[in-house]
Amino acid sequence: MIKPDKPHDEAARLAALQRYEVLDTASEEAFDDLVLIASSICGVPTATVSLIDADRQWFKARHNLELTETSRDESFCGHAILDPDKVMVVPDAAIDERFHDNPLVTAQGGIRFYAGAPLKSNDGHAIGTLCVFGGEAMQLDPPRLEALKALSRQVSRLLELRRVSSELSLQLRDRAWYEQQLQDYQAALERQNADLAEQTRTDSLTGLANRRAFAVALVGEMEKARASGQRLCIAILDIDNFKAINDLHGHAEGDKVLVELASMLKAQFAGKGMAARYGGEEFVLLLAQSDQATARLQCEFLRQSVSLLPIGLPVTVSIGVAEIRPRDDTPEDAFRRADEALYAAKRAGRDRVEVAP
Ligand code: GH3
Ligand code: MG
Ligand code: MG
Repeated sequence: MIKPDKPHDEAARLAALQRYEVLDTASEEAFDDLVLIASSICGVPTATVSLIDADRQWFKARHNLELTETSRDESFCGHAILDPDKVMVVPDAAIDERFHDNPLVTAQGGIRFYAGAPLKSNDGHAIGTLCVFGGEAMQLDPPRLEALKALSRQVSRLLELRRVSSELSLQLRDRAWYEQQLQDYQAALERQNADLAEQTRTDSLTGLANRRAFAVALVGEMEKARASGQRLCIAILDIDNFKAINDLHGHAEGDKVLVELASMLKAQFAGKGMAARYGGEEFVLLLAQSDQATARLQCEFLRQSVSLLPIGLPVTVSIGVAEIRPRDDTPEDAFRRADEALYAAKRAGRDRVEVAP
């Protein structure tokens, strides 16, 4: 027995075969059909699509054969791929020096006749054969040889088609993955933007609305009040002698006072009006649907609530209130009058509510 030589392009040939990702895959009807047709056209009992791997031949399709693979050394197809453009015909293996003592030949009912047409990869390497073989020495007439050759080209095309279609489906899957990534990224970006927008409206220490958010809300409330004729007040609340609290108890304690006061305001204004941190130890309040008298009562209530805060320090606040006159007031006018009222409260001794005239 003469073992088949390795073709000159062996490494590239194996690489080409790998690209088809077909070795050890399940049988497929399209290949099975082609070996059936090959066997029938050539009038030879057995036909296979044989792929020549590094050390074995593996059958992608088999007609009339139990074996799924053999060693490459004893394969006929290993010889057939040495001339990629020619159908290799062995009319009688028993008298061929390459095969006469090959176990596939000497076995009971072994091979006598063989014809194998090489399968070529799209880049021209012979990766296997479409072959027919049987136990009788014989010849194939030229039309049948041509038919076998034509069928081998069909097998090659089928392999190529199979490769391209699996590549495409991988690409589609990748695309779906990338699209999903993009969507996730976009959602994260939108969440971040929403967080940022929230941050630009919120005071970080107390979690209350900040001055900017208050200004926006005030414009909206003024418009509403203008349309409905409802009354609207604003108030500025300032902690009395806060500097002394900081000086006596430290800045951290001072912060705690701000946080406690803010959470009280948040609770008082939940669902109606608005409380915002205006800056430092000043808070600004929007008293929706309140006239001066109601606003004064509300602010009195707040002032007294401050003394009940669980702070452990004597803290008082002064509050200046101004009613907004929707028809003639700008927000700045209202602020100015509330600030004047606050100043009056401070002057009058602190810990009190003053309403602007
Ligand atoms: P008045 O009764 O006249 O309002 O006196 P005051 O001491 O409260 O007023 P002043 O404006 O002199 O001082 C305000 C202080 O508030 C000064 C500043 O150190 C303090 N302050 C401003 N922002 C913060 C803050 O975020 N945390 C703390 N702990 N202190 C702050
Ligand atoms: Mg102040
Ligand atoms: Mg103060």
